Amino acid sequence: MSKQISIYINGEYFSREDAKVSVFDHGLLYGDGVFEGMRAYSGKVFRLEEHLIRLWESALAIGLKMPISMEQLTEDVNATVAKNELVDGYIRLVVTRGSGPLGLDPFKCSNPQIIIIADSITLYPESFYTDGLDLVTASSIRNHPGALSPRVKSLNYLNNILAKMEGLRAGCIEALMLNHKGEVAECTGDNIFVVKNGALNTPPIDAGILEGITRNAVIELAEEAGIDTTELPMTRHDIYTADECFLTGSAAEVIPAVRLDGRDIGDGKPGPITKQLNEAFRALVRA
Ligand code: PMP
Repeated sequence: MSKQISIYINGEYFSREDAKVSVFDHGLLYGDGVFEGMRAYSGKVFRLEEHLIRLWESALAIGLKMPISMEQLTEDVNATVAKNELVDGYIRLVVTRGSGPLGLDPFKCSNPQIIIIADSITLYPESFYTDGLDLVTASSIRNHPGALSPRVKSLNYLNNILAKMEGLRAGCIEALMLNHKGEVAECTGDNIFVVKNGALNTPPIDAGILEGITRNAVIELAEEAGIDTTELPMTRHDIYTADECFLTGSAAEVIPAVRLDGRDIGDGKPGPITKQLNEAFRALVRA
């Protein structure tokens, strides 16, 4: 049986069974909305402010006026974490366009729904953190930045889902997504880094990626450790020939990737810099 949780919707709390939104909500009908996925460590949300800034920017990008202030939402996220006695867990924050008539018109929608779910998550089995995971390159590409910018964390994740299906069918839990130019973008739910000659390379934001909060944290940790990071347009060649590779994400944290398309990356084992940054990240979130 699932644990009893209290789900926040627009300032009120509901049980799992009673937490409902309208079937006329354009979040459901058209994927019209934005979201964030965050983690709490020892009861404190990691980089909540950065997540909320990204949420606000995503909302702005799709012309969705946030119905409450950032201060209020900060309080409400923290209150939902506390109410659920979440110590180490995951928080999903969703803002939908709200309900309206059938038809795309977002201007006819009223009452955007703010939903906060604070629960546990196990994204990947623990063995993947010690042994690394396998990636496959998906044929579904990341959103073209000229269409829906990948910087917008919108409720439209369909091409990432198609890529994820390709990965899973090939026996890989994550898949590498390229951009419309054939360059490396990111994975379906994680950013990607490689280690080459003792330094880090990661695709730049304008490769068409989400600007990951974990990505930024890892770049800062690398800098503190004296490891250079270059935001570098990359092709798969750069991964095939890398010494190490790892992925970052709020849910995934820092996880080694040891194979791409059946080829070993480096010696096919998590490398020393990946391990060092993983430890530094774990220390940071527990600090
Ligand atoms: N890229 C995509 C496509 C994502 O969905 C996510 C979040 N799951 C990330 C990267 C990682 O971002 P963050 O570190 O902010 O969770």
